[in-house]
Amino acid sequence: MNVPKLTMRRPDDFHVHLRDGWTLKQVLPATAEVFARALVMPNTTPPILNASDAIRYRSEILGECGKGGFTPLMTIQITDATVPETVRTASQAGVVAGKLYPVGVTTNSENGATDIKALYQVFGEMERAGMVLCLHGEEPGEFCLERESYFLDALEGLAGSFPRLRIVLEHLSSEEAVETVLALPETVAATITAHHLVLTLDDVIGGKLQPHHFCKPLPKTPADRAALIEAAISGNPKFFFGSDSAPHRIPTKECADGAAGVFSAPTALPVLAGVFEHEDALDRFEAFVSGHGARFYGLSPNEGAITLERRPWKGRLRYCGEYVPFMAGKPIDWRVAG
Ligand SMILES: [Zn+2]
Repeated sequence: MNVPKLTMRRPDDFHVHLRDGWTLKQVLPATAEVFARALVMPNTTPPILNASDAIRYRSEILGECGKGGFTPLMTIQITDATVPETVRTASQAGVVAGKLYPVGVTTNSENGATDIKALYQVFGEMERAGMVLCLHGEEPGEFCLERESYFLDALEGLAGSFPRLRIVLEHLSSEEAVETVLALPETVAATITAHHLVLTLDDVIGGKLQPHHFCKPLPKTPADRAALIEAAISGNPKFFFGSDSAPHRIPTKECADGAAGVFSAPTALPVLAGVFEHEDALDRFEAFVSGHGARFYGLSPNEGAITLERRPWKGRLRYCGEYVPFMAGKPIDWRVAG
């Protein structure tokens, strides 16, 4: 039988949570074996706040990934305590982005920013240094399905005030956010996850509670999902892949106050291939995962290739015995060859 194959430039993941210590050791291979580079989020415990934190974290990651040719792209967290000098030294140390979480919106964001306007000098320095601003775009305190919508004003304000600052609205989840990003200048882009292209809120709470689908921002309506799919397959360079893969051990997901996050690194690329195939858009898949993001970040395209094969399988139920990966036990049409 002739197995359909898809060979393309090695992809990038422009939003991943690798954690640290033992968890890092466990989950890193799922990312490093597939992606040439990944933008590593700073919300570890303790968080990555400045150049020296980022340098230490980068060497911890590199120490775990051996000779595999994986490059972690480092971020620092932008908090109320960040000052322009923090940005300057981090940029000189090779940090490519600053991640802003409004306070309390997701995992380990208790130290998040309380007043975006108070950070305008910091954003000005990021603009001068060429550092990308990554936004968890949800407004704290609003109704959970409307938090992204309420945040869009702040995004428009930032884009207007800092015309040369590159801004990424992370993990888009709504049609309104897609339209806002489309309407803003080309300095504003967005990442889209694999799970937001597959799930709606029904897959979280529509039947029995699905804790492994629970994430922030919440998956929303079928119309929102359709808008995200349309954006992903559009070929528009404003939209590129960021998995937001966020591992939590099973007891912290399957409990009375479960953590938000979908651990998608082991399956994201095959799942995405399935989405693009279903939309008859496989010709635009490589640009979404290996092209647009690198160009937005000013990085050269990756060397080397990866091959996917259309050989249906069922997602593994466990990863390292301690995590439930996205699509566990579900049919997945594509797999990474080799
Ligand atoms: Zn995230």
